[in-house]
Formats: sequence, C-alpha cells, structure tokens
Amino acid sequence: MSELLLSARNLTKRFGGLTAVGGVSVDLWRNRIHAVIGPNGAGKSTLTNLLSGDIAPTTGSITLGAQDVTGWAPERIARQGLGRSYQKTNIFLPFTVWDNVLLAAQSRERQQPWNPIAWLRSAGKYIAAQQRATKAIELAGLQNRRSAMASTISHGEQRQLEIAMTLATEPQVLLLDEPLAGMGVAEAERMVALLLRIKPDHAMLLVEHDMDAIFTLADHLTVMVNGQVIASGTPAEVRADAGVQAAYLGEDQT
Ligand code: ADP
Ligand code: MG
Repeated sequence: MSELLLSARNLTKRFGGLTAVGGVSVDLWRNRIHAVIGPNGAGKSTLTNLLSGDIAPTTGSITLGAQDVTGWAPERIARQGLGRSYQKTNIFLPFTVWDNVLLAAQSRERQQPWNPIAWLRSAGKYIAAQQRATKAIELAGLQNRRSAMASTISHGEQRQLEIAMTLATEPQVLLLDEPLAGMGVAEAERMVALLLRIKPDHAMLLVEHDMDAIFTLADHLTVMVNGQVIASGTPAEVRADAGVQAAYLGEDQT
C-alpha cells in the first residue's frame, strides 16, 4: 500500500485582485508521481510555492506527514521532509558538483554555537552529510562529474545537480517545477530515468510541459487553467476529457 505523505486542502492564493490558485486540493503519495500541467500563468509555480511554504496560502491547509504545516516557514517545512527544485536553476556556479551537493546536505543541520561537545558532534554530522551527498550524487547519475565546476557542466547536468542537492536533504516529498525545461531529447530521457529511479522512495509533485514525459511518469494528472483545476485523474482519463482537449491539450496535438 502506498503512503499518503502530503495532503493539501482547498488552497487559495490571491495576489491583490488576482486569484493565482483557487481552491486546489492535492494528495501526494509515496511511490506516485502527481503531475500538474497548464498554460503559463495557470498557477502551477504558485501551487508549488504554497506547498513548500515559500508563500503562505490566503486560505486552505497543508498536512505533511502527521503535521499541520499551514503557515510554517519554508526551512521548517524542509526539515519536516519536503524538498523542492525551482523553475530556474539554483546552484552555485563557481563551486564543484560535489561542493554544491555537500553544502546542500549540510544545510539540513541547524548551526550551533561553538563548544567542545558540539564540535565533536559536528564532526559526526560532517561524515553523515558526506554520506548523504555521495548517495544523492549517485542517484542523480553525476558520479563521473563530482569534481567538475558547476559552471562547466551541461544544462541537463545542472538540472540533475539541482535534483541531487534536493535529494541530499533526504526529503520524503519532492516538488519539481519544470525539471525538463530547456532540455534536448537525450537530456530529457536522462531526467525521466532519474525521476523513475527516485520515485519508489518519494511522493512527487511534478510541474512539467513535456507531455511525453508526463505520460511516461505520471500516476495522476491535474490540469490547471487560470488558478483553477479543470481536470484531475489518471493520465488516460485526463487525455480523454473533452474540456481539457479544448482548453489545453488540443494545442499540443496540432
Ligand atoms: P505558472 O507557473 O502556471 O506559469 P504562476 O504560478 O507563476 O503560473 O503564476 C500564476 C499567476 O499569478 C500569474 O498571473 C502570475 O503573474 C501571478 N503571480 C505569481 N506570483 C506572483 C507574485 N509574487 N505577485 C503577484 N502576482 C504573482
Ligand atoms: Mg511556473
């Protein structure tokens, strides 16, 4: 049986008079990928920002594990087991792949004032962080690029690096905002393989435009237009929905 890890109910976010997200509910289960598609401005990134705590909902609630995390700061939600990537890459270009992932692995720890016992403890934490970083780099398929500068690896590898940095914090729930954006066919295939590799251990929300990837990866598909959910179901159900064809998928099939 799959495990429900995140449940959002009736999330609404208004920016002034604009309802960017209007009454959206989402359930994320371990070993399932919940894809969200929709035209630009549909509210997909705003939904992701609501779930991660980067912005607080106007109304609605979010439960992560057994906790009501509505209104929590993003760092606190992250420590509770949520990891995310951003629509724009978020890596330190002058650092190596390894340093980027190790810093991400260490970011999970709270800083403590210096004292001898804390110092010993931090040595142990450093080893644990290195182990998390090593595992994340392998999962992301970057073991051959560990010592490369982030600025010199390909765009596709930079997106893999971003996923590795997210994995290094050992999240249960992953929110990925357009991880395939700007990729060529081979890069996209590598990213799809990566997402399938990490799927069993994670609950995933995947915002994406690449319909081939969506239909390969998604267990559940939600279509948003103007902040509203216009369809939600299995990819096959959504594909058969006449309203979705007219509003969104139609333009893809010409
Ligand atoms: P998508 O990711 O689906 O393209 P977004 O969630 O980025 O859509 O945006 C949804 C709507 O909310 C858009 O009309 C956008 O201009 C607006 N919006 C997003 N973020 C903000 C913000 N911080 N302040 C004001 N309006 C915003
Ligand atoms: Mg977006």
